[in-house]
Amino acid sequence: MNFGGIQKLSLLDYPDRTCCTLFTIGCNYRCPFCHNSSIIQANHSNPDITQSEVMEFLRKRRKLLDGVCITGGEPLLHDELQDFIREIKLLGFSVKLDTNGSFPAKLKQLVENKLVDYVAMDIKNSPDRYGETIGVNSYNIDSIKESVEFLLSNAVPYEFRTTVVREFHTSREILSIAHWIKGTQHYYLQSFVDSEDVLERGLSGYSKEDMLYFQEIVRSFIPSVELRGV
Ligand code: SF4
Repeated sequence: MNFGGIQKLSLLDYPDRTCCTLFTIGCNYRCPFCHNSSIIQANHSNPDITQSEVMEFLRKRRKLLDGVCITGGEPLLHDELQDFIREIKLLGFSVKLDTNGSFPAKLKQLVENKLVDYVAMDIKNSPDRYGETIGVNSYNIDSIKESVEFLLSNAVPYEFRTTVVREFHTSREILSIAHWIKGTQHYYLQSFVDSEDVLERGLSGYSKEDMLYFQEIVRSFIPSVELRGV
């Protein structure tokens, strides 16, 4: 499989580990606040990085990095992902997977085959505003609910996270999400930050004070909720 980008060193993408981050191409969502708009389209404009180029890089970094973070786009769109991860596991790396949660069967298979060590799943919004928030009308969130249930079973270390965007989230939505994923030990709220790469311009994030208020709301359901990047 080919990749849309590689970040050769990250100290932030994988909790407690140094890693490189690989960006897979394509996504089944069109979140207006997406920061990877250049790689979510099949006809993206970045030159692809081939799997053999990635493997060559990883072989050189075997002793220097702890892990590999695979993000997107949506990595689970790619049927070849499982074989690719097998190759990088053979080099001894831990693997973190970032996912939008829309492919629960593939997620379970990777976990059951011990191919991922940590999963970060986006909770885009409350169930009633999911489709609007991901830019896909009339979206059926059964797959998302299935992934949430699976991760809540603690089959693998994981986190849920929500990018909070003023145009999509109020305290009503935040409360609804908290109620939905109650029981998780690991939930992060991060405020949207605008940039040139965002799919739709004109969106806005919340102030630190507002984010602290949201954290307080969530805390009654998820005492360990944390803010990120605030
Ligand atoms: S934010 Fe994530 S899920 Fe949404 S379009 Fe971008 S890559 Fe896909």
